[in-house]
Amino acid sequence: MKTDTIEDWKRTNNCGSLRREDIGREVVLMGWVNRRRDLGKVTFIDLRDRFGLTQIVLDREFDETSHKKAGILRNEWVIAVKGIVSARLAGQENPELPTGDIEVKIRELKILNETGVPPFQVDGKIDASESLRLKYRYLELRRPALFHNIATRHKIALQIRNTLSREGFIEVETPFLTKSTPEGARDYLVPSRITKGRFYALPQSPQLFKQLLMVAGFDRYFQIVRCFRDEDLRADRQPEFTQVDMEMSFIKEDGVIDVVETLMVDLFSTRLGYTLSKPFPRFEYQKAMELYGSDKPDIRYGMELTDISDSLRPCGFKVFTDVLDAGGVVKAINVKGGASFSRKDLDELNGMVVAFGARGLFWAKIKSDGWQSSVAKFLKANTRRAIEEKLGAAEGDLVIIVSDMRQVANEALGSLRVEIGKKLHLVKPGTYSFVWITRFPLLEYSSEEERFVAVHHPFTAPLEEDLPFLAEEPQRVRARSYDVVLNGQEIGGGSVRIHTLDLQNRVFRALGLGKQEVREKFGFFLDALTYGTPPHAGIALGFDRLVAIMVGAESLRDVIAFPKTQRATCAVTDAPSEVGRNQLAELGLTLKNS
Ligand code: ASP
Repeated sequence: MKTDTIEDWKRTNNCGSLRREDIGREVVLMGWVNRRRDLGKVTFIDLRDRFGLTQIVLDREFDETSHKKAGILRNEWVIAVKGIVSARLAGQENPELPTGDIEVKIRELKILNETGVPPFQVDGKIDASESLRLKYRYLELRRPALFHNIATRHKIALQIRNTLSREGFIEVETPFLTKSTPEGARDYLVPSRITKGRFYALPQSPQLFKQLLMVAGFDRYFQIVRCFRDEDLRADRQPEFTQVDMEMSFIKEDGVIDVVETLMVDLFSTRLGYTLSKPFPRFEYQKAMELYGSDKPDIRYGMELTDISDSLRPCGFKVFTDVLDAGGVVKAINVKGGASFSRKDLDELNGMVVAFGARGLFWAKIKSDGWQSSVAKFLKANTRRAIEEKLGAAEGDLVIIVSDMRQVANEALGSLRVEIGKKLHLVKPGTYSFVWITRFPLLEYSSEEERFVAVHHPFTAPLEEDLPFLAEEPQRVRARSYDVVLNGQEIGGGSVRIHTLDLQNRVFRALGLGKQEVREKFGFFLDALTYGTPPHAGIALGFDRLVAIMVGAESLRDVIAFPKTQRATCAVTDAPSEVGRNQLAELGLTLKNS
């Protein structure tokens, strides 16, 4: 088919802009056919672009040529129209649509491009599979809801840039072709053509560069930056993702926390009209684990974990006393109104606890005539009363008890708390709650690597008062680190950094890294530490997740224009793909099985 050109036309409006005030104007619109309705004498078309929808009318009596031409149009064809803005007939207005008071009566129609049969309807009610939608992502991106997410992402980024600039930060780009930056994941490697046999690593984060910028005296740095981590993709992760990365000099924990709080207060008030109050609550890691069984608690509801070990120590019921004698704990949560849970509900909860490595749970429904419970007969009345008191449990409630080693009990009850929170809809939609978790352990033992590894990264400063344990009992050392958690999801983390060579070397030693290895990996950085490094601290926020929460998206894929699939592939381009022998040869590479 021969298509028309727009050489002699200029678009006067987009498809979302016309209002009642425009009635009588001649306009030129261009866009996609969202839907066509043929009523014989008259054809209606919803014309769509990213700004909205406008109803256009092709009336045989008004313009016969266009009306006829419209007969061949299909959904998603690209057209241009010239016509007069008119009022819709009384009663035909569409209050759902910003352009719903008007329609455009067409005088001339140009067909700019036709469309093959699309793999799914942009306007369709029946949804295609995710793999199909990802492959034809450019069609899915025509959908207003997805477009809205991406546009909001842009606005959030813009505002972050504005707020941080106002606070004295400057955005600096750091290299992508660089050396490994340890953040606990595998690197994506890029072979060098010029120096064969050598590889760049794509940054897992700009960590060392931002610290070097502090050495350079930049004082306040930020970057909205892509990071790359080659991890096995758990549910909602992306191998390339975006961080709001920051670093500041002459500052401690409070300084970083304050900047992030200012940023979030600003962002939530302008973008969502939501008032957050500063300061956000803070919990030390250990405390969060004891209270919520999680280092990313959703504190919009209570149901905190309570230690009832002392009440049960004298009870004589072996299941509890054995655990306590072995150094374990008995902890419980009180589910308000949970006495109505069915046997099946309780079995499911038990299954979850077991999946967390605990032996199981005990439960007690508080009824008007006493406990209905899996343990009632083992516990005397005064013990039962003590438990009720500690938990504030009353008639109609359900007490859930787990006895195990501390960590197992905490994590098992913590996950139950979240599950029950969901089940009972304890969270009010449209509410947001931030919390800081601080002082994580500095190191943890990796049985895979048979050495201690950094919980955050090896440039995190240890807490001064815990330094004496660094060499002998490294697991006891707490870090000057902090995570920021929003609605039960970790959205960022950072730390005060080590800024002296001596301490950095001590931490590398505690990590079991030899002098030679450290020199090779981080020599440039250790040198920099000797040239006047100021005390500094920083943080990185997971930008994709923050946007996802702010727009209410379920998956990170809903806020990234071209996301990777679960298998870390790009569904649009089919990357990663094979490369030719020539290209490999240029890089000095041969494939083993080719
Ligand atoms: N580089 C860290 C990360 O990517 C954040 C930081 O410590 O600032 O998690």
